[in-house]
Amino acid sequence: MRDDLDRTIATLQGERPGPAADSGYPQDSADAGATLSEADRTDALLHTARGQRDEVLAALARIDEGTYGQCVDCGDQIRPERLDARPDAARCVSCQAKLAKRRR
Ligand SMILES: [Zn+2]
Repeated sequence: MRDDLDRTIATLQGERPGPAADSGYPQDSADAGATLSEADRTDALLHTARGQRDEVLAALARIDEGTYGQCVDCGDQIRPERLDARPDAARCVSCQAKLAKRRR
């Protein structure tokens, strides 16, 4: 399981450029519209990848603590099928659904 997470992190780290890339895109006024939407897309992808990476790192921390596979909200065991699909899942399906509703 930890190997799987390590691979997930390696994949995510391969997908995202270094931290300095945020200020790196060119300021070409003639192409501003296209550049902006491109940057927005990249930002969205990076945001998603960083969020996932945070989740994976949190999952690795939970492995160290011995609480991996337990829902961080209710403490129940997360279903193995869910962990297969989302190895970095921090919550059981019902707590995740509640969280999604609160965020909406
Ligand atoms: Zn739960």
